[in-house]
Amino acid sequence: MSSISSKEIQIERAKTTKIDQVDFNNIDFGRIFTDHMFVCDFKDGKWQTPKIMPYQPMTIDPSARVFHYGQAVFEGMKAYKDEAGKVWLFRPEENHARINKSAARLAIPEFPKDYFFNGLHTLLNLDKDWVKPGMGNSLYIRPFVIATEPAISASPASEYRFMIICSPAKAYYSGKVRVLFAEKFSRSADGGVGFAKAAGNYAAQFHPTNLAKEQGYQQVVWTDANTHEYLEEAGTMNVFFRVNDTLITAPTNDRILDGITRKSIIQLAKDNHIDVEVRRVSVKEIKDAARNGSLKEIFGAGTAAVISPISAFEHAEEVFELPNIEDSFASIFKEKLLNIQHNLSEDLHNWRQEV
Ligand code: PMP
Repeated sequence: MSSISSKEIQIERAKTTKIDQVDFNNIDFGRIFTDHMFVCDFKDGKWQTPKIMPYQPMTIDPSARVFHYGQAVFEGMKAYKDEAGKVWLFRPEENHARINKSAARLAIPEFPKDYFFNGLHTLLNLDKDWVKPGMGNSLYIRPFVIATEPAISASPASEYRFMIICSPAKAYYSGKVRVLFAEKFSRSADGGVGFAKAAGNYAAQFHPTNLAKEQGYQQVVWTDANTHEYLEEAGTMNVFFRVNDTLITAPTNDRILDGITRKSIIQLAKDNHIDVEVRRVSVKEIKDAARNGSLKEIFGAGTAAVISPISAFEHAEEVFELPNIEDSFASIFKEKLLNIQHNLSEDLHNWRQEV
């Protein structure tokens, strides 16, 4: 695989910054972007010289395959600033590995590690003023790849564009989330692309999620496509259930995204002697536990929100409200993760990477 150093990235700096126009206390997630973006094209069988340029619209041929066949994958990661002004990434190797796993499933060429990290670090160094210190503040980073070759035959493209754009963020969800357990729709199937961060996986969730929203639920918790008896994951989060003092989450497989927050929580639970079971978890088990009072918590886990406590769920027209508990696992894990991410606590597993 080809290699590149930071010096070989072509940099065109923005003439002015937009940062003074941004009210960092009132940020609508994903609508504001930093001054620069990273761009690298794949052509003639290889990744070309990467560029960093001012964030701007771009021209893509209408016949580009991404518009017709959805040949596109992406990642979601965050940078955090500590009180000393240092910028940190959280387990970024995992994001690099996952975008390539997603890419392979969509017949997209892998993006080399040194291109990814040199590009990411150079971009973040240019835009580091956009990473604000303070708990809950972060810079959301969106690496993605799209098929740009102008040709509408239904086959893999020979040209792609890899990009990184960055957007300042505060906590993603405010308040508790009410969810609907899926009975009819599915997000993924055996042998499919559920494990990949493929763009189309998200579009496919929009309609069922809209229907859930009409019923007063913010998210759908997806169940297995074969039986709809087992709980899998939510829209952009893996899901944890606390029954008595045991934490349960579904095993990852080809239908479920291997979430970095999820695997970090499993590790933190082990470090803190909290029982954690990675196994299939049925709708029936959770409904029974809700009825007999042993279901203490459900929460979603993902980069955007870190942890989203779930306050109620509905299944088969039955609504279950969850208790309000003190010292919830959700709040314990959220604090532990945020402290590691913001360089406020020891990093036992070397999850932080300095920019
Ligand atoms: N599941 C899905 C479908 C997701 O899109 C995400 C967000 N990447 C997650 C789970 C959580 O993954 P992570 O903790 O790596 O953000």
